[in-house]
Amino acid sequence: MDKFKHPAEPFRIKAVEPIALLPREKREEVLRAAKYNVFKIKAQDIYIDLLTDSGTGAMSNQQWAALMMGDESYAGARSFYRFESIVRDITGKKHIIPTHQGRVAENVLFSSILKKGDYIPNNTHFDTTRANVSHKGGIPIDFPCPEASSDEELPFKGNMDTLRLRRFIEEKGADRIPAVFMTVTNNSMGGQPVSMSNIRETAALCKENGILFFFDCARYAENCYFIKQYEPGYQNKSIKEIALELFSYADGALMSAKKDGLANMGGFAAVNDDDLARRIIELLIIIEGFPTYGGMSGRDIDAVAVGLQEALNEDYLEYRIGQVAYFGRILERAGAPIIKPSGGHAIFIDAARFLPHIPNRHFPGQALTVELYREGGIRAVEIGSLMFGGYDPNTGEEIHAARELVRLAVPRRVYTASHLDYVAEIVGRIGNRKDQIGGFKITRQATYLRHFTVELDEIAPKGISVK
Ligand SMILES: *Cc1c(COP(=O)(O)O)cnc(C)c1O
Repeated sequence: MDKFKHPAEPFRIKAVEPIALLPREKREEVLRAAKYNVFKIKAQDIYIDLLTDSGTGAMSNQQWAALMMGDESYAGARSFYRFESIVRDITGKKHIIPTHQGRVAENVLFSSILKKGDYIPNNTHFDTTRANVSHKGGIPIDFPCPEASSDEELPFKGNMDTLRLRRFIEEKGADRIPAVFMTVTNNSMGGQPVSMSNIRETAALCKENGILFFFDCARYAENCYFIKQYEPGYQNKSIKEIALELFSYADGALMSAKKDGLANMGGFAAVNDDDLARRIIELLIIIEGFPTYGGMSGRDIDAVAVGLQEALNEDYLEYRIGQVAYFGRILERAGAPIIKPSGGHAIFIDAARFLPHIPNRHFPGQALTVELYREGGIRAVEIGSLMFGGYDPNTGEEIHAARELVRLAVPRRVYTASHLDYVAEIVGRIGNRKDQIGGFKITRQATYLRHFTVELDEIAPKGISVK
């Protein structure tokens, strides 16, 4: 097969949403007004938006039709029972509790199981999961596998380091660890998948110690497709069968349906334990809503129910994962050093290697992010020292992230091969004039999650004046 071939879409397009590239002077103006923070740019001023794959996907005709079938009854709506039956069919869990986003499922679960000072191990916590654990007095701990940080092209770099997890349980004692989490795919580790054998091993370790085992399963369907592709013994199984096996090892799961639910909003918690479900629902009613709608309208619940089934379709997954892989290959051909293998939902450019003349303290990832908008109206996000750095409260010294990355997330069923070709072309053009690209300095920042609101100013590279 041609290495640079994009998979043909298993759908055709029925509704279109116009997008346009602003003229260059206008883009400069937009950047200045946004203080070089792409979170502050209006969506209408973006041409290709690769900020996130969360809630940005396109719904199918079946999902739009399902919206009309939404039952908006306060209690016992038909929409809920359709949703419950589908989620139960996939996860095999007894209690299906709808929430309007993944983070609310996190809130109600952690509020129900955590005591102050308890630990929650995870292959890698996603930001909101980490924040929810901390907010309820818990201590989030990450155990990514050692291969996660290597440059080797290995198939399951999202795995849990079970050796370290075992030692940690022995050291702290199982009574201080109410649950172990597995994030599939491992979002904060580049959307890398977790193997079934690693899941089995982790689940066995939890069972042995009487600890609950949970999935954070926003991208479980993408993970199952990777298992089918790369893990021996799964080639002849359907994605649904693989998903059933995956969930069979867990006591429960939390999901943001904004990813593999193929919906713009939604989520759920699924648990087996009756008592735990009762505690969760008690809190749910206070902060979210009655347990047959969570925080969703009936029509949204129906859209999620249909989306969950569509995401298990193998033609869809082949296209989806194939598109992201194609994107990685063309970016590499355009000269961008990327994290390999490509994950399920995004490509990460190593900005420290792409712009080696910009030191960490001048945010090479942000420099590339700004340049993507300046050159091509593209929105990406810095995942480096701007997002994870900060100041040591004792010494006042600037702390840097381990890697200076720029994430280009791919929304589901939204962009075509030509859109991605365009992005690669822009990256190539930026690469051809790297020397003219300077770094940034912060002019204003918040104490927490500074990347959302930070204001920056451009530093001219040596010998060049920035207008
Ligand atoms: C998006 C995401 C969440 C949070 O879900 P929201 O719907 O954004 O609240 C949690 N975990 C993972 C792995 C995610 O990707």
